Amino acid sequence: MTYDFDLFVIGAGSGGIATARRAAEYGAKVGIAEDDRLGGTCVNRGCVPKKLMVYASHFPEHFHDAVGYGWSAVQSQLDWSKMINAVNNEVTRLNGIYQKMLDKSEVQVFRESAQFVDSHTIQVGDRQITAEKILIAVGGKPIKPAIPGLEHAVTSDEMFHLPQQPKHLVVLGGGYIGVEFACILKGLGSEVTVVIRREKILNGFDEDLRDSIQEGMVNHGIRILNNTNITSVEKRDDGSLTLNLDSDEGSIVADTITLSATGRKPRLEGLGLENTKVEVKKGAIAVDHYSQTAEPHIFAVGDCTDRVNLTPVAINEGRVFADTHFGGKSREMSYENIPTAVFSSPEAATVGLTEAEARNQYGDAVQVFRSKFRPMYHTLGGRNERTLMKLVVDGNSDRVLGAHMVGEDAAEIIQGVAIAVKMGATKADFDATIGIHPSSAEEFVTMR
Ligand code: NDP
Repeated sequence: MTYDFDLFVIGAGSGGIATARRAAEYGAKVGIAEDDRLGGTCVNRGCVPKKLMVYASHFPEHFHDAVGYGWSAVQSQLDWSKMINAVNNEVTRLNGIYQKMLDKSEVQVFRESAQFVDSHTIQVGDRQITAEKILIAVGGKPIKPAIPGLEHAVTSDEMFHLPQQPKHLVVLGGGYIGVEFACILKGLGSEVTVVIRREKILNGFDEDLRDSIQEGMVNHGIRILNNTNITSVEKRDDGSLTLNLDSDEGSIVADTITLSATGRKPRLEGLGLENTKVEVKKGAIAVDHYSQTAEPHIFAVGDCTDRVNLTPVAINEGRVFADTHFGGKSREMSYENIPTAVFSSPEAATVGLTEAEARNQYGDAVQVFRSKFRPMYHTLGGRNERTLMKLVVDGNSDRVLGAHMVGEDAAEIIQGVAIAVKMGATKADFDATIGIHPSSAEEFVTMR
């Protein structure tokens, strides 16, 4: 049987594009379908525009700090539209780069939606395409809980296109997205309230990290209403929203924008999976360690499989698949010690086990090294910012099981530390490493 393509990829986000290009490098004939802009969530509605807005949100702090260093005070005003346009222009530039990269790799791009007709045939626009292997990389989308009136709230998708800066943003949810947008908008000058149903934000992260970020956010003037649920949302005549709460607070009023950041789910509607034997479990495509579905020639990577929903993970899952099936290098994706960052203010990053996870697995052998200090930069700038660094170590083997940080450049620093943790470095290896002085990072090799 001959097919139109060796590999057909559905979805040109981070995972899909990386896989398509890698397979094409090995000489496979590859097609890819995308009915939206190239680049997926990360480039268009996630990591990239978010990080640019994070940068934008830090300028008022820099202006403030400069005065402590002898610069005259700066009076600067944010032009919201100008920022939004600049961010979206960069996204458009990246869309173009993705197109060029795919063209260069000789991947045939179909700017249309794709749907399974049968397990080897895909309807792409008005034509039917057959492929020997098919990769599903359709990503995810935000979900909103069934709270009456929550249809008036925007999600992270719309946050990059708001025509005006919200005066008062209320964020529902204390995960990555809620925390990051709360900090961005606060930095840009909005009043921000975060409503969380638990005691603390960022459930699942190390407790010290959660405490430090939450403390830092409150210190920056963000109001956090914990142990609180929104019971209903009402739109008022002036367009503002009343959010009714189940706490003593009763209700709060936000202007038109209220961000619902309550998680995401795989985007599987309209894919025609019912025309294949691909299984869906808990709303996600069920795959094994090799990203293989119940149909041996259909694979899935990234958020649509709801494993670890991070861009670099999707990219790696895809490249592992391409190396194995088109490059003759059988590989399995490792989900251990995946570093991750929350681009909050203060920033946080982490790799490996939390203290609680380590104690669960290694019991009393676990040793914890912690350092909390005021970074040198703030001594003259005058801001009351604290940096937290923490190492979780298995006392028996001396292996570093987890490294956690809250503070400036946490993502940049933890990325380096993650290499050591991934390699199985011991605390003695950390101690034997000479620090770079003066830096915050040197604290990781001098902790006692
Ligand atoms: P998360 O799953 O991280 O967080 C969802 C938040 O919403 C949690 O605080 C959760 O509370 C809360 N929540 C869920 N349902 C309800 C409800 N019914 N009522 C009230 N609160 C509710 O999802 P996000 O949307 O923040 O992010 C989605 C994913 O995107 C992340 O898991 C991550 O993989 C990825 N991402 C990564 C980023 C990065 O790497 N920097 C940045 C942004 C996103 P509770 O804790 O109680 O469950």
